[in-house]
Amino acid sequence: MEDYKQIVIIGGGITGLSTAYYLQKQIQAHKLPYTVRLVEASYRLGGMIHTEQKNGFTIERGPDSLLARKESVFRLIQDVGLEEELVSVSTGKSYVHAREKLHEIPHGSYMGIPTQVSPFLFSSLFSPAGKLKAAGDFMKKKSTSKDDQSLGEFFRYRLGDEVVENLIEPLLSGIYSGDIDNLSLMATFPNFYRLEQEHGSIVKGLKKTVPKRKKSDKKPSVFKTLRSGLSSLVHAVEEQLEDGTVRLNTAVDHIEKKDDGYHLLLDNGEVLKADSLVVTTPHYRAQRMLSQYDFLNPLRDMPATSVANVALAFDQSAIEKDIDGSGFLVSRNSDYRITACTWTHKKWPHTTPEGKALMRAYVGKPDDQDVVSKTDEEIVDIVWNDLNKIMKLNHKPEFSVVTRWRNSRAQYTVGHKERMEHITHHLREQLPGVFLAGASYNGLGVPDCIDQGETAVEQVLEYLQH
Ligand code: FAD
Repeated sequence: MEDYKQIVIIGGGITGLSTAYYLQKQIQAHKLPYTVRLVEASYRLGGMIHTEQKNGFTIERGPDSLLARKESVFRLIQDVGLEEELVSVSTGKSYVHAREKLHEIPHGSYMGIPTQVSPFLFSSLFSPAGKLKAAGDFMKKKSTSKDDQSLGEFFRYRLGDEVVENLIEPLLSGIYSGDIDNLSLMATFPNFYRLEQEHGSIVKGLKKTVPKRKKSDKKPSVFKTLRSGLSSLVHAVEEQLEDGTVRLNTAVDHIEKKDDGYHLLLDNGEVLKADSLVVTTPHYRAQRMLSQYDFLNPLRDMPATSVANVALAFDQSAIEKDIDGSGFLVSRNSDYRITACTWTHKKWPHTTPEGKALMRAYVGKPDDQDVVSKTDEEIVDIVWNDLNKIMKLNHKPEFSVVTRWRNSRAQYTVGHKERMEHITHHLREQLPGVFLAGASYNGLGVPDCIDQGETAVEQVLEYLQH
């Protein structure tokens, strides 16, 4: 074992796990003299992926939907033998709550942007003036070319405030849990900028590039999940790792570069040596481990928002006024504190026993972060009151599960890509063999994290082989 090089992965969320898994596959296939260790601070693997089974319900505390067009996650699912467990979303209507009522999301919208004109024209979600403003996208000049701008600035210029606030903002802040007037266009949806620059209009650009679908066509399944919850992917990957790879309940506090490689100071005082490192923790933790390097300070200054969600389990009979659909988003102009609610029993019927209902509601708007620090009872009350204004629930839930994700949602603010390029450049120069991957850096969906894990594998192998 003496000549073996040691690769250490810090963090056992899906990024760290996929890195470890694909590294060991390469090491085995090419009989490479490397060992892999994964160090995880908490008592369990999975990070934000966390499924709970309770009274016959499958409750996701974190992610529940895998974007069907992103390949890496389905490749991983296949590689670990879970393909049979895939379930497609039960398609249904989705709504936005705005101006005191629910409005169906217009057919043919892509991330809130119209790809067909007539569903928008007839939608009750926008006023005539709002629709007229949105039509400006066809006439307006391209925005002057910029390195970056906020999502809000870009979409407000093209489609007007109303379409942004009643549709685009609730959809995008649902994904990023942030303020679209601060989030970077180029780090989130650079394709919209390209469409505008190439076609002079994002609506025209989308019409040309998104396949047309009639209202009567069966909706393709946009999302998939795993029958027993996404934690089953975590367990299946863990099972494939060689014995002794994972070390739980161990945090890395500090990293020093020495002549014989990197020395990782663990929270129990022990020192772990590594020849190459993949840091997959949130950005502010990565910065703290390497706080002697000023070039990482932008990670310290990068904001992260907190969210909480509440899963509420009911008997079906509790729902007096049901809604035909799989959930709704809430416009930022409304005075509701919930930001979205999924009717999980309709979106994913396999999660809920017969005769029961399961809903999951979110709180934690960028300007309502304090809500996450309230007690479970207070958060449930807030959710209960808001839901009751919309759908009449005649008795309290059988049980509820509250989950807080503090500082979990990294905010890719304007200039994020440039800052990351600067950091990557300095890492290469000053800390060769150290790589950053995960939700804080280059995409925060589960598939994006797996992509980053795969890239990290290539980087580590290239570094160690040269
Ligand atoms: P994490 O899961 O955060 O893992 C990082 C790990 O590092 C953690 O386990 C942590 O304990 C560990 N760690 C931290 N510090 C240290 C240290 N010092 N030493 C050792 N270990 C350390 N994505 C989707 O694609 N679809 C969805 O439907 C979706 N919904 C979401 C809903 C919610 C409520 C949330 C919170 C996220 C959602 N996401 C969704 C996003 C997605 O789940 C995450 O971006 C992704 O799981 C992050 O994985 P990661 O491995 O990069 O980070």
